Amino acid sequence: MRDSFGRTIDYLRLSVTDRCNLRCRYCLPADFNAFSPRNRILSDDETVRLVEGFAAVGFTTVRVTGGEPLVRPGIEALIGRLAAIDGIDEVALSTNGILLAKKAKTLKSAGLSRVNVSLDSLRPERFAAVTRSGKLSDAWAGIEAALDADLGPVKINVVVARGLNDDEVEEFAALTVARPLHVRFIELMPMGETGFFSKERWVPMPEIERRAGPLEPVTGSARPAGRGPARVSRRPGARGTLGFISALSCSFCSDCNRVRLSATGKLVACLDGEDGTDLRAMADAEAGTLEDAIRAAVGRKPESHRMLERVSQGASPRMMCQIGG
Ligand code: SAM
Repeated sequence: MRDSFGRTIDYLRLSVTDRCNLRCRYCLPADFNAFSPRNRILSDDETVRLVEGFAAVGFTTVRVTGGEPLVRPGIEALIGRLAAIDGIDEVALSTNGILLAKKAKTLKSAGLSRVNVSLDSLRPERFAAVTRSGKLSDAWAGIEAALDADLGPVKINVVVARGLNDDEVEEFAALTVARPLHVRFIELMPMGETGFFSKERWVPMPEIERRAGPLEPVTGSARPAGRGPARVSRRPGARGTLGFISALSCSFCSDCNRVRLSATGKLVACLDGEDGTDLRAMADAEAGTLEDAIRAAVGRKPESHRMLERVSQGASPRMMCQIGG
């Protein structure tokens, strides 16, 4: 369907939990405990019914996210049910990879198309410090398992922050030369009261691109499959690609194709928008009510986010885990 600015909106980022098995420093405060009560989280049946509503108004792609989606019990079966919905062509997954080695094959058999793994450092000690608990070897085993299970193109999402991992941009870029891995650098965004974001930590995308080394553009069918806003390049001769996602330096709003559904059933039309429309009660409403509510909420999608203002005025009130990052 089209929104009021003429953009085709057909991509749903579906959060299936707001809980996570990591506490990345820019994402979740160390002592954060205000997760949604379990009885507020959409059940599998409610989730499927709501996604059927999105499919009915023209959505074709679902990305399962969170929180960490692989901590949700029965996630494999839920993904299988989502992939079977009429009109949904693709179900993808964003994960931190920690539980992926165990689940990759089952997820593939259930109907998952591909995965993005978030990974902010290639150094074990630093990885543990950024995530406040994670083991790099677990995340890396998840990436290898995704390649083995044919869940590609496998993308590695790297949020770059000064003083955290900006000195690893070159190493991440080098990873794509010999292996079919697609690294996507993401600008740090002022999300949630983590106390992490600051102008000093923010590394503008042109600087990240310079550090990634000599690059050539990748366009058309040479781009790895995906529905995201990355500008794609590659190291000459590399098997994988590099993507650059700059929410702040180079806003991608004019090409935005997505909305988010929180784990409690709120439709959030913009990453940085106001509180969402509550769709949960509509899972059981009479035919057409849910679809009308989705159309109305997408119709109210703002033209652009206000992230740049937030750099000086304070972070967005919500964290990624609360809206489906
Ligand atoms: N747990 C899954 C994962 O790790 O991919 C999915 C949820 S996580 C919230 C989704 C993405 O949001 C991750 O790539 C994470 O790095 C990113 N993210 C969280 N907070 C962010 C911030 N302040 N700025 C930029 N990206 C952020």
